[in-house]
Amino acid sequence: MTDTAVTTSSSVSDASASNVASAAAAADDKRAFNKLQKRLRRQVGNAVIDYGMIEEGDKVMVCLSGGKDSYTMLEILRSLQRNAPVNFSLVAVNLDQKQPGFPEHVLPEYLDKLGVDYHILERDTYSVVKEKTPEGKTTCALCSRLRRGSLYGFAEEIGATKVALGHHREDILETLFLNMFFGGSLKSMPPKLLSDDAKNIVIRPLAYCREADIEEFSQRMEFPIIPCNLCGSQPNMQRQVVKEMLAEWEVKYPGRLESMFKAVTNVAPSQLADRDLFDFKGLEAEQAKRRENRIDAFDLGREA
Ligand code: SF4
Repeated sequence: MTDTAVTTSSSVSDASASNVASAAAAADDKRAFNKLQKRLRRQVGNAVIDYGMIEEGDKVMVCLSGGKDSYTMLEILRSLQRNAPVNFSLVAVNLDQKQPGFPEHVLPEYLDKLGVDYHILERDTYSVVKEKTPEGKTTCALCSRLRRGSLYGFAEEIGATKVALGHHREDILETLFLNMFFGGSLKSMPPKLLSDDAKNIVIRPLAYCREADIEEFSQRMEFPIIPCNLCGSQPNMQRQVVKEMLAEWEVKYPGRLESMFKAVTNVAPSQLADRDLFDFKGLEAEQAKRRENRIDAFDLGREA
């Protein structure tokens, strides 16, 4: 009798200890998620302010591919919209490129549930890309160009004043290296851009956000991700190589990506070699001007 009582009481205390432990773990988990969400909001908010991305009355067209980045962008912009000091509207746009197996119902169902304004734009760029790209060549360059053209044109049609794309910090750094390695130019994806025909202003609100944070946020939010390999194309191999290089650096030298991204925002034209950005031939004249000013200052000092 006594043994049974002891056993029962010990089981009860084991169970309650395990309940306490799992409640504490759940609380820690929730705290970690709140921290992640706040960090993403802060980074997006800072990028929006730093580059003047969104102004009073803007109609922001959020390009939604069904990948983790664009879902995160929409979610964070919606939360900022609720507390922003300026009024702006959001409209989500998905381009259905008619890739075989594209799950057409996923985005409308998700957006209906959120109550977000949206359009699904149907353009068969898939067939065009397949037709125009020679066998064995990568299809991404043409596909992206056609996608960009369709989205920019549609933004104009619906009167969107800004086109928001979900590129993040790592996309920007990868593009920087790809342009250096293969394009012979020091350029990347700017947080804000005027399109070549001056019809659209493109913004990248996730410019300050780490891809790992977006990945984690996306998993926690259980976004209904649409796979991006429906076109059957190889992913851009060079981009993948650069991506792996950056990831390896970040493991070996934590903080390196942060420093590199800071470098993109902190350019010193006189310490590079672009003759259009800095007047190297005018340095002698600049030297003479500065010397003259120094002499003036020196003379004034002596008179005093
Ligand atoms: S992976 Fe496919 S859908 Fe994506 S850009 Fe390349 S060709 Fe287009």
